Amino acid sequence: MSQTTPVRVRFAPSPTGKLHVGGARTAIYNWAFARANGGTFILRIDDTDPTRSTEENTQIILRAMRWLGLDWDEGPEAGGDYGPYFQTERLSLYREAAERLVAEGNAYYCFCTPEELEAARQAAKERGDSFQGYQRTCRDIDPAQAQARVDAGEPYTIRIKVPDDRGDVIVHDAVHGDVTFNAKELDDFIIFRSDGTPTYNFATVVDDAAMGITHIIRGDDHLSNTPRQVIVYEALGAPVPTFAHISMILGSDGKKLSKRHGATSVEEYRDAGYLSDAFVNYLSLLGWAPDGESTVISRERLASEFSLDHVSKNPAIMDPKKLDYINGEYLHAMDDAQFVHDVLVPELCKAGLETDGSLSHDKAWYCLLAQALKPRCTLSADVVRQASYLYAADEDLAYDEKSVKKWLAKVGAREALDAAEAALSELSDEGFVPEAIEAALDPLPTQLGLGKGKVFQPIRVAVVGSAASPGIGETLALAGRDHVLARIERAKGLTA
Ligand code: GLU
Repeated sequence: MSQTTPVRVRFAPSPTGKLHVGGARTAIYNWAFARANGGTFILRIDDTDPTRSTEENTQIILRAMRWLGLDWDEGPEAGGDYGPYFQTERLSLYREAAERLVAEGNAYYCFCTPEELEAARQAAKERGDSFQGYQRTCRDIDPAQAQARVDAGEPYTIRIKVPDDRGDVIVHDAVHGDVTFNAKELDDFIIFRSDGTPTYNFATVVDDAAMGITHIIRGDDHLSNTPRQVIVYEALGAPVPTFAHISMILGSDGKKLSKRHGATSVEEYRDAGYLSDAFVNYLSLLGWAPDGESTVISRERLASEFSLDHVSKNPAIMDPKKLDYINGEYLHAMDDAQFVHDVLVPELCKAGLETDGSLSHDKAWYCLLAQALKPRCTLSADVVRQASYLYAADEDLAYDEKSVKKWLAKVGAREALDAAEAALSELSDEGFVPEAIEAALDPLPTQLGLGKGKVFQPIRVAVVGSAASPGIGETLALAGRDHVLARIERAKGLTA
């Protein structure tokens, strides 16, 4: 492929299930490679397996792609000059291509029945033949005769004619280097089944050739298919693209990623509250690293720096802790307004604590809440648990038993609450802001002769219900003067 050929890559999922992390990473690499090279990213739906492909899965995949922010230049909904982009709408193209190969002598009709094939395999085994594949029984049937049998309605498959003198097929893989396959072991494999459907190795090459795909980036479970696909390219007279087979994603125990390891589909991660940018960042680093150091890599950087040179051929290990860490980094880096808009309000609405369109507080309140919670979140949904004390009625606030035992049911707690009540009731409603609250509470430990924890933790537990919360000033300011005083009053009943 010449250097000047514009890059065209495709992601070609089969809609036989949801989009999983492995597929998502393949999609990300294709997208990033297209963007980094000023190329075109194509989405094609490989839906030729009628028993397992569903429209629902197609929609799930499209939704997941959109959530991941992997915009495709050609494909479903986007259209393009090389459509249609659903394989089921391209069936006539596969038939035409197969018939052209037959007409040109590069493929042939095979009339062997399954029983005959099995008998031939057994016979090869018995005579100790190391090759137990197809014995090329129909390869030399006179073409006119074969055509007559087809016309007479005899069932047939179409097989590719692997040239006798083909020699080894060497796949020049951008990740694995040169991988050599013995052409003799390739068999004259079937490109069209007797039910009139094309095989994967054929349909995919017909499409990739017709769509002008220059680089095929996909999982290395397909590496063993590649020599057959090379033979199809050669038979079609189409240029062979560059292949890049990327490693599998494994669970922490080194086994293939599965449900046992937790979430596997993109949707599950979305619903668990991961940010799309963080998720894409994390997956892009499973097998690729621009410099071996960065963990936070923006989408822009990925889209400009991604290259196949830095893709590892070793299996990647899914590390949920690292994903959480990266997600937290993205949350912490948001400015307050964005955090309010993208995280806080949607999560509070989702939890039924707020109603979109008629929020319970003013903008400044949500900004203060964002400042308080942002540094304490790993996942978006973490805000709900931490903000829930603000949405409970004073008389219904639930107290965490351990916190009560540790901080309220202790000598000195009652004094701390009394003093806090007195100091805070001096403040006005409008003056109930973090700095003023802190200034009012600051002298109490010295006044009471108690450690800071012994004073502030009982107040915190009284207002929040548990001992974990942001700074005392923010925590109380967010709850509001009257609620704070009412809760302190109530909590006195829990002191020793
Ligand atoms: N539909 C195939 C799959 O999902 C595509 C493989 C390929 O990229 O060639 O595995």
